[in-house]
Amino acid sequence: MIKIERLPCPPSLKDKSEEGNYYNTREVVETLWKMQHGKCCYCEMDLPEKGHLKAVEHFKPKAVFKGLRNDWKNLLLACAQCNGKKSNKFPVILSDENNVESVLYIVDERDETPAIIDPSKIDPEPHLAYELDLDRIHKSFVNIRGKSVLGRETIATVGLTDAFYLKARRRWYWRVLMPSLARLSEAELDGSEREKQTQRKDFAALLADKEIHGGLSRAFARHHGVIDLVSKPAAPKPKPRQVKPRQPKGPINPFTNTAAIHDPAQFIGREKMLRRLSNSLNGGCVALIGEPKIGKSSILLRLKEAWRGDTVVPIDFSGLTGRDHFYSKLAVNLGLKADASEEEIGDAFEERRLLLLLDEIEAAPVKGIREEDMSWLRAKCNSHPNVSAVISGQRQLCDIFGDSAGSAWDNIFIPKQVKYLTRAEAETLLEHPWAPDEMPLVPNTIREILDKTGLHPYRIQRGGYHAFEALHDPDYDWRAELQQELENCNMQWRPVGEG
Ligand SMILES: [Zn+2]
Repeated sequence: MIKIERLPCPPSLKDKSEEGNYYNTREVVETLWKMQHGKCCYCEMDLPEKGHLKAVEHFKPKAVFKGLRNDWKNLLLACAQCNGKKSNKFPVILSDENNVESVLYIVDERDETPAIIDPSKIDPEPHLAYELDLDRIHKSFVNIRGKSVLGRETIATVGLTDAFYLKARRRWYWRVLMPSLARLSEAELDGSEREKQTQRKDFAALLADKEIHGGLSRAFARHHGVIDLVSKPAAPKPKPRQVKPRQPKGPINPFTNTAAIHDPAQFIGREKMLRRLSNSLNGGCVALIGEPKIGKSSILLRLKEAWRGDTVVPIDFSGLTGRDHFYSKLAVNLGLKADASEEEIGDAFEERRLLLLLDEIEAAPVKGIREEDMSWLRAKCNSHPNVSAVISGQRQLCDIFGDSAGSAWDNIFIPKQVKYLTRAEAETLLEHPWAPDEMPLVPNTIREILDKTGLHPYRIQRGGYHAFEALHDPDYDWRAELQQELENCNMQWRPVGEG
């Protein structure tokens, strides 16, 4: 049972006398049928558009309320079952002095509050409840209960729990509602956006005023928590974007990356070294030592990716503004406020598997980080076996902070040299396997590049870059360009502090 929005009075019924059967003209019946979406006003079952299996229902029985015989506002359309059952019964609510409501079935006209629901005036849904828990359904079909006096009396007067209706609702529950819910759930779980929208729309259609058993279906949707999901208007379709005509794709130089390698596909070789490093990080501390641009930062990125502990704290000393910045970066990476004290930071080292990745350590003294800071860090690493650390730099750690007497802060770090690539790794790098669609360098060019660059990964990358440019531009003198760049590298790569 659902609320019915009453249509305007049909002309053939206007200003008609209380006598006669004007209520039963074709126009009135058709208007009522349209008003109720072709459904019975009480049980919400289909009413045939033509024929006699439906009856104009006088909400206030015409046998009792004689003046309302042709009153449009008193008319509804009901199925033969509901109409017959209700017949001339009309309960009203009588409140006694103690405000206790009792119901009286009246036989002569009285102006009391009806004890049943006129669905064209009162929304029935708050007054009715449905048994939707599976165990109850197995025992007693899909029952309907009155949550209020109005609900209870409507059910009793119209006979809405008669076996005839229970059977119809049970069939609707199992054949329509459950399968629809299953399809909706399936789509929400694994479906494409389109499939979701289709299933939501299909389910929402069951809740529409014009659908039979609408009240039951809405209660079912509320019971299963999907009413908001399916009642939401579909998100407006995004406007088709103005698609720019696609530029014909030119060659993309696979060797443009000059910074640390983020894309694992571009990280060539060093498998054995990475494996050993990962193994030694179980609470251990390592110092990666190697020439500039040999790939230390890229190795740190791989270690960061592979870390299976709780927290990684990456700090690049060359990017720090000073000593406070060092501590605030530590704090923030440990989930503390930026101004946390050294003590708070130290406490945060406990109780979690932590990996410190400290890059460009030779920049530390220049940034105001002192040996005592490193000693503090060493003590933390030493006293917490759950903390691992990798420091990377160009020189042995003991050289970096000068000759402080008695200093041994670095002695917990196992030095590991980052070496050149092997010949095979270097050749693979120049074959740019991460960009298989781009034009390959021929073996002769690869050989020539390696002759000029050696097996230093950054130099090889640069050799690849210039040689690749020449593939698409015959005027590009890649040998001269590479030579110039390698000389610049030698100038720039003097370690910090050597002037
Ligand atoms: Zn009915």
